[in-house]
Amino acid sequence: MTQTPRSLDWTRRLVGIDTTSRNSNLGLIEEARDHLAGLGFEIALTRDASGAKANLFATWPDRSGRLKGGVVLSGHTDVVPVDGQAWSSDPFKPEMRDGRLYGRGACDMKGFIGACLELAGRLPSGGLARPLHLALSYDEEVGCLGAPGMIAEMRARGLDPEGCIVGEPTSMAPVTAHKGFNVYRCTVRGCPAHSSLPQKGVSAIEYAARLILFIRDLSNGFRERGPFDDAFDTPWTTASVGKIEGGTAANIVPEFCRFVFEFRNLPGVSPDGIYGAIERYAQQSLVPEMHAVSPKAGIEFEQLVGSPGLEADEAAEITRLVRRLAREDKVRKVGYGTEAGLFQEAGVPTLVCGPGDIQVAHRADEFVSLEQLAACEAFLDGVIEALQRDGPLG
Ligand SMILES: [Zn+2]
Repeated sequence: MTQTPRSLDWTRRLVGIDTTSRNSNLGLIEEARDHLAGLGFEIALTRDASGAKANLFATWPDRSGRLKGGVVLSGHTDVVPVDGQAWSSDPFKPEMRDGRLYGRGACDMKGFIGACLELAGRLPSGGLARPLHLALSYDEEVGCLGAPGMIAEMRARGLDPEGCIVGEPTSMAPVTAHKGFNVYRCTVRGCPAHSSLPQKGVSAIEYAARLILFIRDLSNGFRERGPFDDAFDTPWTTASVGKIEGGTAANIVPEFCRFVFEFRNLPGVSPDGIYGAIERYAQQSLVPEMHAVSPKAGIEFEQLVGSPGLEADEAAEITRLVRRLAREDKVRKVGYGTEAGLFQEAGVPTLVCGPGDIQVAHRADEFVSLEQLAACEAFLDGVIEALQRDGPLG
């Protein structure tokens, strides 16, 4: 029987706060803020436009009071909905069964945040040689919408951390790369006409269909010709259309069609390049044909999600530190996105390592095992030891 992990109480409290992305996350953020501010952390909140959601960036200064440099421990506070899922217990009333804590977010990623908040309460009295930052974001699950504001604020304050660990569930194994995730909405405006006179109209659905086939061809091209990275389960860049609506009736040339597409680029493949190809095809090949019939016709794009891929720097001190603490040299690259790419893009060497199994995330009866929580605590203790020392982190 494993000893009860010290972070279990915090994890239970966090799971008990319903932070489904469609809700406010302020209940959790305020509880974390009060705890950390009470301990003496420097607190910075960044809010969304409505004020109902916030990121929390908290810093424990080094022994001479500096906030610059150090390591970020980062997690998102929101969770995916439980709608339509068959849970064996109330997802927001955490329950212990068979050495596991069950509840929405137990694994993704309140176990990690719980471990961070518990750790904050017992930092060494002699102080740290480098600062420790805790970064808690909102709206990760709906496309990493919260973290960019928090990271911009971190940069504006010149904090310049030396490394960041994103504690998404990896069963405490270092993950050094993931794909980028990009979502766009495309609106095609045609020109309506009686369907017996199709030459008088511009069919929004037909032009949307041609664009969708272009996206499919792009995707096939990546699959056939690469670039490839065999460390990924699906070793090429993928693209697909997931949603479409349009048209009025069988006998009307449709005026309107809208669809949503996504692509997941390998870290070395430029998302702007992919979007650029799609946009160029629309504006250069399709729109002139549409305009020949009606100048009011057109195609517009709107980006809904743009979350960069991650390719960690193996030579970075933070990578060496995480590999040493996790006792793991294997290269792991995953298909799911995280906020790690955003930190890396902001110049902070970042990788992913956290408690829990990604296979149980987002599902009914999500759980984190006490063993994983304990392993996370031991790992974070190692991070603190490294922050206590002068000299290189790794
Ligand atoms: Zn997550």
